[in-house]
Amino acid sequence: MELIDGKKISAELKNEIKNEVDFVKQHNDSVGLAVIMVGDDPASLVYLNSKKKMAAELGIEFYEYHFDKAATEEEIINQINLLNADKKINGIFIEMPLPDGMNKNKILSFIDPYKDIDGLNPISLGMLASNVYSFAPCTAKSVVELLDRSEISVEGKHVVILGRSNVVGKPLSLLMLNKNATVTVCHSKTENLKNITKTADILVVAIGKKKFVDSSFISDNVVVIDVGIHRDMVDGKSVLSGDVDFDDVKNKCSYITPVPGGVGPMTTVCLFKNCMDAKINYG
Ligand code: NAP
Repeated sequence: MELIDGKKISAELKNEIKNEVDFVKQHNDSVGLAVIMVGDDPASLVYLNSKKKMAAELGIEFYEYHFDKAATEEEIINQINLLNADKKINGIFIEMPLPDGMNKNKILSFIDPYKDIDGLNPISLGMLASNVYSFAPCTAKSVVELLDRSEISVEGKHVVILGRSNVVGKPLSLLMLNKNATVTVCHSKTENLKNITKTADILVVAIGKKKFVDSSFISDNVVVIDVGIHRDMVDGKSVLSGDVDFDDVKNKCSYITPVPGGVGPMTTVCLFKNCMDAKINYG
């Protein structure tokens, strides 16, 4: 079994982005990311600050827009429209969750698809389905980057994806199809799940159920990508685990992503990769 090292791969990717940003700066230009946060959700603030820190490391200009939780949808949409028209902004990201009562899909649909670096405007998903260049949600993109950079080809392979959410399973199924994989997507209503997962060459698990997939789900030499993240406090310490029972499956796999240290470290870096790609392609 070989570990797919998300920490190492994300560091490589970060370095590549930094070189690209440096190149842009040498030409007296800049790359700009705008983040909108509505309300004061503490977890969202942590995510916002970690993006701000990474932007500083990469040399990407970071613009943050904070709105009170009592803000109206119209105010957020007005801000999005300003950012859509602003040439120094290449990517727009909205911290989730939005306050209760706000229409998330309506708000996301106002982001210019060429600046939609988290790929959550339904138009972006449609572009992905049509195999037109577009931005995929960062977690789905992370899975592709991990496989590509581990030189694991998906072409002609049976990729089984557990989970069909709009942020992970669904866009990932399209990315895989676009890369000539044969794709099966399973969800909570899927019958005979193990019969399907056992036919996978590559199994991606994104269901939000701790250690759900054990060795009885897989055949020998499968590649396992575990997207799940679960945090428990054990003896006063925070312990992370995934949707896969790592210790039970590890000796049966050819490759596996650990949790922590697999998909997790990739996601924010992939957001910046999308931002850089937005600059390169749509400047
Ligand atoms: P989600 O929106 O809750 O979707 C879960 C999906 O799994 C749904 O499609 C659901 O089916 C399916 N499912 C649930 N139970 C199942 C079962 N027993 N058998 C087969 N399918 C089942 O979750 P998500 O946002 O995609 O996230 C999935 C996991 O990834 C979570 O653990 C989350 O914390 C993690 N995550 C990690 C990152 C990261 O940075 N690494 C980013 C995002 C998410 P239905 O559609 O039928 O309900």
